[in-house]
This record gives sequence, C-alpha cells and structure tokens, in this order.
Amino acid sequence: MHNFDVLIVGGGHAGAQAAIALRQAKFEGSIGIVNAESELPYERPPLSKEYFSGDKAFERIMIRPANFWPERNIEILTSVTVESVNPGAKSVTTVAGEVIGFGQLIWATGGSPRWLLCEGGNLPGVHVVRSRADIDAVTAELDDVRDVVIIGGGYIGLEAAAVLRKFQKNVTVLEAQDRVLARVAGPSLSTFYQDEHRAHGVDLRVDVAVDKLIEVDGHVGGVVLVDGETIPAQLVIVGIGIIPAVAPLIKAGAAGGNGVDVDPYCRTSLPDIFAIGDCAAHANDFASGEIMRVESVQNANDMANALVKTIMGEDTVYHAVPWFWSNQYDLRLQTVGLSVGYDQELVRGDPATRSFSVLYLKQGKVIALDCVNATKDYVQGRALVTGHAVIAPDLLADATVPLKEILAEHSGS
Ligand code: FAD
Repeated sequence: MHNFDVLIVGGGHAGAQAAIALRQAKFEGSIGIVNAESELPYERPPLSKEYFSGDKAFERIMIRPANFWPERNIEILTSVTVESVNPGAKSVTTVAGEVIGFGQLIWATGGSPRWLLCEGGNLPGVHVVRSRADIDAVTAELDDVRDVVIIGGGYIGLEAAAVLRKFQKNVTVLEAQDRVLARVAGPSLSTFYQDEHRAHGVDLRVDVAVDKLIEVDGHVGGVVLVDGETIPAQLVIVGIGIIPAVAPLIKAGAAGGNGVDVDPYCRTSLPDIFAIGDCAAHANDFASGEIMRVESVQNANDMANALVKTIMGEDTVYHAVPWFWSNQYDLRLQTVGLSVGYDQELVRGDPATRSFSVLYLKQGKVIALDCVNATKDYVQGRALVTGHAVIAPDLLADATVPLKEILAEHSGS
C-alpha cells in the first residue's frame, strides 16, 4: 500500500505548487500527488488561449519539466481518481480500489465543468473546457465545423470565441444574463467586451435562454432558443462554470457546501486534512471577509504557499492580493483585487482607445481594478487596493496623472 507523509489529491495548479513549495522549504518527508488526469501538471489558462490557438505546444505549458518531479522525490500517480476519504484511518481509496495512506492530506481537486441539463446537452459535438483532453477533442473536430455556439459569456467562453474567430468560424455567444462577465466585472467592462466581440464578427447575444440542442446525423446540429429560433452549430462549447470536486471530502464529514470550508490556515474541519485552490471556500480578506471560492492561478498558488508554511510549523494565514488576467484578440486584461460588493465604478481613460481601466470602489475605498491594455495602471493600482486607498473619484479617473502620483499626493485625503 502507498503511504505518503503528505498526500496531495489533484495535480493542477494548487496541488503542483504545494509539492514544489514543500521541497523548496526543505520538507524531507514523502510526497505523493494523485491526479485523475493522465498528464503531469500543466497550466490551465492557455487552454482557452495560446494552446487552443496553436501558439503554444503542450510541452510549453507544463508547470515543470517531466524530470523535475522524480528529481525532487515527488511521486505522481496519474490517471488515478480518489473516490473516498477515511479520516479516521488516514487513508483515501481510489476508484480502482487502491488504499493510499497519509500523514497529512491536501485536497486540491479544482472542479468539474457544469454541463447543460437541457435536452441534447450531451450530444456528440458538445464540449466543455477544463482539461487538455477537452481542448484536444474540440481541436480534432474543428476542420469539419463552420458554425460554433458558445453558451456562457464568462472569460472562458469569450476567450474561446476570440480564438475561434481567428480560425474564421461563425461564432455565436449566448449569455443568459443581461451582460457578459456579469459575475466578475461591472457594466463598463462588459459593454466594452461585448462591443469588441461584435466588432470582430461574433454574434453575441445577452438575455437569451437555451431551450434544447438538436441532433443532425447523430451529432449536434443546432441550438434552439426559448423563443423558437434555431442557431446552426456543428460544435457547441459550454462555459457556464464549475462544480467544486469535493464530494468525497464532504461525504467523509468535512464542512462545506459550495466547495469545502477552510479556516484562514487552509484547514478543513477534519484533522490533518487541508484544502486549497478552486475547491476551497475561505473568508477572503479582499472581499470584506466574505466566504467564497476564488477561481484563479494566483489563489491556487498563494493558498499552496501559505499552507506549506503552516505545514512546516510557521502558522501562516492566507492573505494575498487577488490578481487575474484574460487575453482576447489583442486585448490584455489584468485585474487586481476583487470587485465583489462594489458600490461605485469609475472609468479611467477612454475605452474607445482600447486602453483604459475600470476602478471599483466600496464605501469610498478602492477594492479592485480591471485594466485593459493598461499595465501601468495594473502595476500601480495594486497599492491602491492593498492600501484600501480613499481618493476623490475625479482624481482617480484622471488618466493624465499616473496612479502612483495620485496615491502619493492624495492618499487619505
Ligand atoms: P485544477 O487546476 O483544476 O486542478 C485540479 C486537478 O485535480 C485536476 O487535474 C483534476 O482532474 C484533479 N482531480 C479532481 N478530482 C480528483 C479526484 N477525486 N482524484 C484525483 N484527482 C482529482 N485563471 C487565471 O488566473 N487566469 C486565467 O487566465 C485563467 N484562464 C483559465 C482558462 C481555462 C480554460 C480554465 C479551465 C481555467 C482558467 N483559469 C484562469 C482558472 C485556473 O486555471 C484555475 O483557477 C486553477 O487551475 C485552479 O487550480 P486548482 O489546482 O485548484 O484546480
């Protein structure tokens, strides 16, 4: 029977970083990673960007070269899925029935993409985007595809739309809410991206509901809206969020609901069992302590780093500035902070120039920035977020003055 001092379930961003950081911190015990996927750890963001577009080969998105793991004595069991956790016996059981023991368990399983529940939601030609296998399956079909419907106007759906336009496909994006990116950004950013996608030839529709998917010759052939219109599609991409992969832990008695609950030290309610990354619901300091899951590489890596310090005996709470990015066409969006709960939105610069920022304020304090082709604002705006800066809105919105000058001169005024 395998038995590891630290067993990590999930070999994505969070799990890989936990193993890397443990060895960097000179952890000498045994480390095992159990991963449902067949690949060694790789970066997920390029799946809807450079890997999908063909600009980066798979080897270039590996988190570490293959020889890194054995050299650091990190054992990775690929294509192995954990089915249950026995906290009392300190072991997990895999789908194949293997029992693996642990001293400490790090749960870093991310989430599985939501599928459409309507009629036709599982037809051949309907895809989600979470893993390399998902994108490879899309790519394998693309030659035979003229029309694509993307369901969901979040970052993944919009990034996929941009790549598919590059491939000259007819692309329709269907968003159920009244604007894209509604869950993560304010209306100014949504309007800007909607305009951009339409200018690039995407048929982007908001406030639309899907009734069903129809079959043509054993394959998806179209998407029927509730108003009866049928949009032709030989390929459908569903980007409507994830369901955190925490069922085995919850069944074992861990507290949770939307993800598994962790305290500021990434500890679940079960002894010696921790959780990090997309699946970990925590009180985020940058969202006024709201309990939430954050789906980003930053969150996965920084939670892993904080947890490793705790495991090494230096109790460390997770407190890291959230940041994120998205690439669509020639637009580079960089986000710092979390805009959740904002009560004021300021546009800095002119969106028509395709270089501008949106600042989000809550009770006068800057809580987040979305910066489009505006790296200076992103870099300088970080201090506004970490410093909870209170600065007059008209000053913040004055794009002729760099944010660092505004901060230096008017902080606290
Ligand atoms: P994951 O990376 O999902 O890793 C979890 C791993 O655990 C998976 O390999 C899964 O197969 C495995 N697993 C699950 N259950 C089990 C089990 N029971 N047993 C064994 N293994 C299991 N973030 C950004 O910051 N910027 C971006 O631009 C960005 N773009 C993205 C684009 C795409 C297409 C996607 C899908 C995500 C993107 N993200 C982006 C989000 C980012 O990739 C995630 O936040 C990050 O991968 C979370 O890391 P994680 O380790 O928590 O989960």
